[in-house]
Amino acid sequence: MKILVINAGSSSLKYQLFDMTDHSVLAKGQCERITVDGAFKHVAGDKEIKMEVDLPNHKKAIELVLKYLTDAEYGVIENISDISAVGHRVVNGGEIFPESCIMNEEKIQTLDSLTEFAPLHNPPAVTGIRACIEVMGESIPQVCVFDTSFHQTMPKVASVYALPYEFYEKHGIRRFGAHGTSHKYVAAKCAEMMGKDPSELKIVTCHLGNGSSITAVDGGKCVDTSMGFTPLAGLLMGTRCGDIDPAILPFIMKKFNISVDEISDFLNKKCGVLGLSGVSSDFRDLEAAAAEGNDRAQLALDMFNYQVKKYIGSYAAAMGGLDAVVFTAGVGENNPILREEICTDLAYMGFDFDSEANKVRGKAAKITKDGSRVAAFVIPTNEELAIALDTQMLVEGK
Ligand code: AMP
Repeated sequence: MKILVINAGSSSLKYQLFDMTDHSVLAKGQCERITVDGAFKHVAGDKEIKMEVDLPNHKKAIELVLKYLTDAEYGVIENISDISAVGHRVVNGGEIFPESCIMNEEKIQTLDSLTEFAPLHNPPAVTGIRACIEVMGESIPQVCVFDTSFHQTMPKVASVYALPYEFYEKHGIRRFGAHGTSHKYVAAKCAEMMGKDPSELKIVTCHLGNGSSITAVDGGKCVDTSMGFTPLAGLLMGTRCGDIDPAILPFIMKKFNISVDEISDFLNKKCGVLGLSGVSSDFRDLEAAAAEGNDRAQLALDMFNYQVKKYIGSYAAAMGGLDAVVFTAGVGENNPILREEICTDLAYMGFDFDSEANKVRGKAAKITKDGSRVAAFVIPTNEELAIALDTQMLVEGK
């Protein structure tokens, strides 16, 4: 079975075609600057092609992707009908979509009505699904996999805000979380690496990248997560502020006479480690600057570590115990210093850290010693494969 995974953004469309017999990636690539002018990159094995091309809309982008997937030189399949299903990444499924599902016209319209919750991300996903149906026909199932699904098991104590209750009931204002596909994938891998059933384990998964979130997984189910109503909440991130006193918002808005859109843009794009350091949102740049004595870059790194530790501690308290912590995503997978600082500072919780094993980047590894009361792991995330696996499960009717 071959499954095409699509991650559509407002001006971009990334894709990977999986062979589900061995989970290998047959081809992948991306369309960028859609609606602006257009750029395309396609990689299949050792063959790669890049071009500037007119991409006025997502339909043209999908047409181009399918053209190259079936191309005589760069292609990996003969016909579009060789694709058994398409899996689409969707940021927010609200409460209406607690699980991945095969889309039909009614469900697409429902998803379209949820744009209020993810104004930047959901509309391009709907556009991507419609474009696929238009270009590929109705016979190839289109599946949506939601970043919020894994978090739907959170109890109300973790998901409801202390606002008047009708704000939750009538307006759906609650914690949704994000990165759910990643947290679900690495939590399952962690159980596999421990040789245990997920139902026996209390795990904290740390997805630390440009966007970061931490999730408490008790018995294989999400019971709390750091992102909230939107992905702005929780940890400080590359450019996002994370949790701050909500009273700071009206204070800044009045002081600088700025609008709702301007404050939203500011909190999403100008804060986090970028705003703190004044150097960069990229952790590699921060480490280089800190090594040269830049105090603000060092503060940004220290604050990040501090907040990760606080989440691990608070989620252990929430779950009443802790068996394992997982580090994943760009920073979690590639930053041994950060992992060592966090795990050694938390030694009192039962981490017996293995500095030698921790010298790993982008590969799965256990980074605590055998017999450590709490285990720590590096597990590369693979959101695309997780989407393909959910898609396969649904189309096979399992
Ligand atoms: P992501 O959003 O998961 O792609 O993660 C992006 C972040 O990962 C950036 O802040 C990078 O600094 C960090 N990152 C990616 N690769 C490396 C690496 N090889 N070493 C250190 N940090 C890395």
